[in-house]
Amino acid sequence: MFDADVILVGGGMVGLSLALAAGQAGLSVRVLDAAAPGASLSEAFDGRVSALGRVSSRLLAALGVWRLLEPDAQPIYDILVSTGRLRSGPSPLSLHFDYREGEGETAGQPLGHIVENRHLRAALHGALHDHIGMISVQANAQVVSVAPDAQGVEVCLSEGSRVRGRICVAADGRESRLRQAAGIKCVAWDYGQCGIVTTVHHTKPHGGLAHEYFLPGGPFAILPMTGARSSLVWTEPAGRARALIGLPQAHFESELRARFGGQWGDISCDGPRWIYPLSFHHARDYVGPRLALAGDAAHTIHPIAGQGLNLGLRDAAALAEVLVDAHRLGLDIGAANVLSRYQAWRRFDNVSLSVITDLLNRLFSNASPLVSMAREMGLGLAGGIGPLRRLAMRHAAGDAGTLPRLLSGNPL
Ligand SMILES: Cc1cc2nc3c(=O)[nH]c(=O)nc-3n(C[C@H](O)[C@H](O)[C@H](O)COP(=O)(O)OP(=O)(O)OC[C@H]3O[C@@H](n4cnc5c(N)ncnc54)[C@H](O)[C@@H]3O)c2cc1C
Repeated sequence: MFDADVILVGGGMVGLSLALAAGQAGLSVRVLDAAAPGASLSEAFDGRVSALGRVSSRLLAALGVWRLLEPDAQPIYDILVSTGRLRSGPSPLSLHFDYREGEGETAGQPLGHIVENRHLRAALHGALHDHIGMISVQANAQVVSVAPDAQGVEVCLSEGSRVRGRICVAADGRESRLRQAAGIKCVAWDYGQCGIVTTVHHTKPHGGLAHEYFLPGGPFAILPMTGARSSLVWTEPAGRARALIGLPQAHFESELRARFGGQWGDISCDGPRWIYPLSFHHARDYVGPRLALAGDAAHTIHPIAGQGLNLGLRDAAALAEVLVDAHRLGLDIGAANVLSRYQAWRRFDNVSLSVITDLLNRLFSNASPLVSMAREMGLGLAGGIGPLRRLAMRHAAGDAGTLPRLLSGNPL
């Protein structure tokens, strides 16, 4: 009667991670994605990288993805957070996270990894090959509506076909059509900012340094990639960002040089440039009748701290665990009490990180001299207190709170 236990709408990085977690543990999963086959694997699809915390890499290892991804992953050894002005360089008061400060099981471990999204997508698709019997992926499958009933849920595609499962998971991104169709309201606002993303080549090695540099226009993140390359996430007010990405190469590079400083040597940037409008969304409910939201469909945050995907992966691990536990007990995996366990588990982590990233952006995108002085002093102060720094490092790695089994290195 059911095409699969779980009908998963959205084969992005969160959707595929959840499909692997649930499929490995014995649930059948049908992934429906609107994009054309292989579209998300092309180089032109997504120029972004993702900063993955330790806990996210642990999940990917448990899913058989990390072994395919690791050769292309750049370890992060240092994170420098500083404020500054154009051409005058960073202020001396900064916050420095150093992997050498790790204690216990994190001793000697990098603070995280930078992976190119295209490599992560390819590794997720590669890992699916080991689960062909349990997980199927259908491309060109635009879902238009979902109809729950007492036993299951019917998912309708734009070309008229229907697929039936016990539960539907919406991992269909920030504009989630399923969230809207279910009438789930969001707290949402537009930041009026865009993130410019591009890859920069430099003549000096980066040594695994990620630099979050807060400039008057907005955060300017330099993220180390494999080789002598770094990825840029450059936040500016929307109008200025649109003007910047249209600049001729020499002019664009001179804008970059004014912000980079000499540490990376000479820089060049002749590849494509991407632009992402930035907004905040947080769903008031993560669940509805036989429906659960995961990843950006439930919450979209500012990329200032590189945490959006990390949160989505934690959703995937928690939802898989809740569904698999219910399945093993012979319970209905789409029942309201099963889904509310997922919502209760994920709410605090998601809300707190969403609020923190929002406040950070408001604080660091504010040009007032008073605010600027206060944040410089705040950074200097936080940098000087070892235990506070180490606590922040644990939270950034995702290693706090009650972790799903897959995130603690245990099997599902
Ligand atoms: C500039 C920038 C930098 C970032 N950097 C980081 C970082 O360093 N670290 C980090 O953790 N996060 C980062 N993020 C956030 C991260 O990219 C997102 O949180 C993540 O991509 C969300 O993944 P997702 O799978 O939930 O959604 P998406 O990637 O949006 O995937 C949604 C999928 O659903 C499919 N779909 C949509 N509608 C339908 C439909 N109706 N029917 C069927 N399929 C549908 C789409 O085709 C797509 O494949 C960054 C974000 C930005 C903008």
